[in-house]
Amino acid sequence: MIEASLTETLTELDSQALRRRLPEAIERPGTTVERGDRRLLNLSSNNYLGLATHPDVVMAAVDATMRSGCSATGSRLLAGNLTWHERLEARIAQFKGTEAALLFNSGYVANLGVLTALTGPGDLIVADKLNHASLIDGARASEAEVRHAPHQSMERMEALLDKPGVKRRFVVTDGVFSMDGDIARLPELLSLCRRYEATLVLDEAHATGVLGATGRGTLEHYCLGVQGVIQVGTLSKALGGFGAFVAGSQAVIESLINLARPLVFSTALPPAVIGAALAAFDVLDFDPGLVERLRANAIYLREGLQRIGLQVPSGITPIIPVVVGEPDVALKFAQHLDTLGVLAQAVRPPSVPRGSARVRVTVMAPHTREQLDRAIAAFETAGRRAGILT
Ligand SMILES: *Cc1c(COP(=O)(O)O)cnc(C)c1O
Repeated sequence: MIEASLTETLTELDSQALRRRLPEAIERPGTTVERGDRRLLNLSSNNYLGLATHPDVVMAAVDATMRSGCSATGSRLLAGNLTWHERLEARIAQFKGTEAALLFNSGYVANLGVLTALTGPGDLIVADKLNHASLIDGARASEAEVRHAPHQSMERMEALLDKPGVKRRFVVTDGVFSMDGDIARLPELLSLCRRYEATLVLDEAHATGVLGATGRGTLEHYCLGVQGVIQVGTLSKALGGFGAFVAGSQAVIESLINLARPLVFSTALPPAVIGAALAAFDVLDFDPGLVERLRANAIYLREGLQRIGLQVPSGITPIIPVVVGEPDVALKFAQHLDTLGVLAQAVRPPSVPRGSARVRVTVMAPHTREQLDRAIAAFETAGRRAGILT
């Protein structure tokens, strides 16, 4: 019976403080969340701009459903190609400044689709070791040779790219790294790409709506053009909805329509999520101050956590890692925070390297200074209780 061996594995995970359990469910993800009869300050959400509960976005989802129903009813290549999809793709291409864009059902399958469809035998993928799991899985599922460089090491990246007899080269990286919140060194990566005639695949999941003056992402942050870059982004983080996209040249998009199996063999996104995404782009366009407020909050919270003595890197992104080392310490830290009314998740291996278990904090644009001050005070108390601060 499989149950006996499964239980053994779970018990083993338990003994290493590595067993995962679904957290207690919440009703509505805002700057605060209600869990049972308690209200917690939410420092654990990817809903960076608060758009998931924005009235315009919510109404747009309702309107789209009333007009077009609950389902696309088929793959884009069959009966599932709705005018909604094409409107949103035009909007995304305009937002990202690319020739074209293509929707996918999630960031996870978008990365799988891009890396398996656009690479083949004889190709080389050079990737950052701390890339998101979906990029790692996509590379693994591809027929290309895959090599991982240490995090943000341009020297190792170059050494791996400098391999003779390769058909085509790809450099694959997160724009904003999802567990560390640091920003990819794109100017250097792009110059490596030029030198080795490599294509850059850039995962903008945590950069879209976050980086750059108007939230267009990592390229806007560095004032770089989109030439030679394939961007993947999600609608599920700063844009507050669901689904994902690839933005790039016409040739890339046409190829994905032909070759990306997650696109070909899966039902397209329903009208509700498309309507919500169109409205989210409208909100972003009309209020670029939203991105500025997110950045100001990120800097404020990072500085506050540093001031009380926590090891927190400086930066401008809303992902703030408080690395404590061992999984049991991270769990205890998060538990004390919870008791003090703050929701911030412990992240343990294999999501992060061994010895770097952490509490991963994320901040939102609509968080008030009063809320952030309360969070900093809670981190100070919880840090002492968990033995991290003295
Ligand atoms: C969240 C995330 C994804 C997956 O996106 P989903 O739309 O949630 O499937 C992909 N890449 C990165 C870097 C992410 O953080």
